[in-house]
Amino acid sequence: MTVIDGKKISEEIQNEISAEVKKIRSSGGKIPHLAAVLVGNDGASETYVGGKVKACEKVGFKSTLVRLPGTVSENDLLKKIAELNCDNDIDGFIVQLPLPKHISDRKVIETIDPKKDVDGFHPVNVGRMALNLPSYLPATPYGILQLIERYKIETTGKNCVVIGRSHIVGSPMSILMARNAYPGNCTVTITHSKTKNLKEICLSADILIVALGKAEFLTADYVKQGTVVIDVGITRVKSDKTKSGWKLLGDVKYDEVAPKCSFITPVPGGVGPMTITALLMNTLKASKMEIYT
Ligand code: NAP
Repeated sequence: MTVIDGKKISEEIQNEISAEVKKIRSSGGKIPHLAAVLVGNDGASETYVGGKVKACEKVGFKSTLVRLPGTVSENDLLKKIAELNCDNDIDGFIVQLPLPKHISDRKVIETIDPKKDVDGFHPVNVGRMALNLPSYLPATPYGILQLIERYKIETTGKNCVVIGRSHIVGSPMSILMARNAYPGNCTVTITHSKTKNLKEICLSADILIVALGKAEFLTADYVKQGTVVIDVGITRVKSDKTKSGWKLLGDVKYDEVAPKCSFITPVPGGVGPMTITALLMNTLKASKMEIYT
């Protein structure tokens, strides 16, 4: 059994990006620039955006944090997005979700110029991904593809079961694993809360991607010997064993599932660190105009 080290791979990729930024800098090229829009002061969103800005600094990107009050009108936010769309110095930007209830996520996402949509949430990018055309891939699925690729995990002809059909993880993951590409070429089954016989379906999986958001849901009886298990779930639970008073759990009951796996991602340290790195990869692509030439 191999434990997939997302922290190590993430560092490796960030070092590669840093080296590329150094080259760009020494040749007098334009430094990649990511902007992040943060509406309101939700604690988790602050942490996520802070992590993205810090990662930009680490690899040598420029970053801009646009803070707007939680009371900002939908119209004013859309105006801000239109400004960012036209700002030639900004290569890509994200609007941190979730947004306050009076603002439509859909309208916001659809206002972002697909060429600058480094989160890969705009319908144009989702459509291009489904058609296997160059597109920004959503960060978490993109990060998972990197892990599969860098650990040289065989995917062609394998049965891949995805648990969860969210727009940010499960649904794109199922599309990507079915594409005629590597990683891909799997026979994919996507499952959700209405799925019947989930255990039976999971037992048919060679690759199991688990993204339902229920701590330690997947137990050993769902997994056949030799399966590749990718655990996307992150749930914060109280703990009296840690200094902070809480710990993170995945969707997989790691201790009992790991011995049956050929590869498994731990939580923390598996998929999590890859998400920000994938956003950096998309930003570099945006600055090099690799997707939309
Ligand atoms: P989500 O939007 O809540 O979607 C959960 C999906 O799981 C839904 O499709 C739901 O089905 C399905 N589901 C719920 N209970 C189920 C059950 N008993 N059996 C089968 N399917 C079930 O969640 P998400 O945004 O995709 O996130 C999933 C988890 O990944 C969360 O823990 C989240 O924190 C984590 N996450 C981690 C990262 C990272 O960087 N590592 C990034 C994003 C998300 P229905 O559609 O029928 O409701």
